[in-house]
Parts: sequence; structure tokens; C-alpha cells
Amino acid sequence: MGSLKIENIRKSFGQVDVLKGIDLEVADGEFVIFVGPSGCGKSTLLRVIAGLEDATSGDILIDGKKVNNTPPAKRGIAMVFQTYALYPHLSVRDNMGLGLKQAGKPAEEIKERTKIASSMLSLDDYLERRPAELSGGQRQRVAIGRAIVREPELFLFDEPLSNLDAALRVNTRLEIARLHRQLKATMIYVTHDQVEAMTLADKIVVLNKGRIEQVGSPMELYNAPQTIFVAGFIGSPQ
Ligand code: ADP
Ligand code: MG
Repeated sequence: MGSLKIENIRKSFGQVDVLKGIDLEVADGEFVIFVGPSGCGKSTLLRVIAGLEDATSGDILIDGKKVNNTPPAKRGIAMVFQTYALYPHLSVRDNMGLGLKQAGKPAEEIKERTKIASSMLSLDDYLERRPAELSGGQRQRVAIGRAIVREPELFLFDEPLSNLDAALRVNTRLEIARLHRQLKATMIYVTHDQVEAMTLADKIVVLNKGRIEQVGSPMELYNAPQTIFVAGFIGSPQ
């Protein structure tokens, strides 16, 4: 469960071709990093996978099943954004449980799942606080907790650490790596931080101007970059 296949995905906004034919396979449980310069289409690709944006053409398959017409809530995907996107008027508990409540889950189950997620993320003592009463790192953990309670097969992270200071970035990165081992879920993670890419990824996908430049393990890209662009981003000094 949680495998993904992207087949010849194209996306245009008006005259602008943002994704120009993306093909990619992600195995169940894999940790895949998307890297590439600002504006190359990373967020757009995540949004197409999540169903928040329709592709202009091409197919998205989850566990072998085409989901082009499946609404986001039914894709078994949870997304974590750079800006946390928490509701300011709701407590941590209610922010984490809202999606489950909207999906009609019983209160007892929501409570139980929230408890498990908050203990995984060391948020037990903060459940009754509002987002404004939390640090940036804690807010991002709430956003991650909100994803975990939904028990998705596939997590999408869009630059989740870029609003955190350096020390918190390291902590939160290690926490995400631990969650990946613990949950055994598939994770796709956008970053432009080379250290995050090299340390987290099973597989790195290098994007440039709406196309994939190269796909490989961190070591493959580091030792054998196929283009100057990849070498410049991640390769060993020539
Ligand atoms: P990245 O996440 O790699 O920085 P994005 O996927 O956000 O890149 O954006 C890729 C390109 O698509 C950019 O040129 C951006 O301006 C454009 N774009 C993204 N979303 C929209 C939209 N809703 N309408 C028009 N253009 C968009
Ligand atoms: Mg982006």
C-alpha cells in the first residue's frame, strides 16, 4: 500500500507549461525527495499528486489504481505545508482531529488517534493550546500530527522545515526520519536543502524547468551526476 506511479504528467497554467511530461515510480515505503530551483514545478507536482490541482494530461496511479478523478480526501494522502496551515481559533487537539471529524469518525477514535500522534511528536502537554501559543517548531509538529492521525499511505511534505531556524530544522528532520521508519509509510518530500536531500532520501528526483533531470539514490547522484545541472546541485566536485 502507498505506491505511486506518475505517467506523463503535464500541467499548464494558461500559456505557461509548468510540468512538461513527468514519469516516476515510487515504491511502497520509499522516502523520495524532490529537489530543484524555485519555480521548477515541485509544489505543482505535489498538488497534482494530492489532487489539489488537475493535470492538463497524464495519469496518477496509487497502488495501481488511477486516481485522476478521485477527490483529494479519498486518495489516502496527507500533505504538510511550509506554512503549517493551522486554524488559529482551534486548539492543537481540534486542529489535529478536524479532518477525522469531517470524515465522520467517532469521537472516541479521534481522541485515541490524536493521543497516539501527539505522543509520537511530544505534543501531549500542548493539546489544549492554540497555535499562537506555540513555537514555530511546535506548530510544524502539529501540522505533521494532523497528517499522522489520518493514517495516510502517502505523505507529501512541501518544504516543511524552511520556516524553522537551523537547530529546529535538524531536530525536525530527524523526527521526520524516525516517523518514516516507525510508520513505514511512503513519503515524498520537497526541499532545496542539499543536506536534507542527502540524509533523508532513498531516492532523489532532480527537477528542472518542469522536467526530471535525473533520478537516483543520493550516492548515485553524488558520484555520477548525468548533467552539469545535477552536478551543480548535488554532485561531487569535478
Ligand atoms: P516550485 O514549488 O518548484 O518553486 P511551483 O510549482 O510553485 O514551483 O511553480 C512552478 C511555476 O508555476 C511557477 O512559474 C509559478 O509561477 C507557476 N504557477 C504555480 N501555480 C500557479 C497558478 N495557480 N497559476 C498560475 N501559475 C502558477
Ligand atoms: Mg514550491
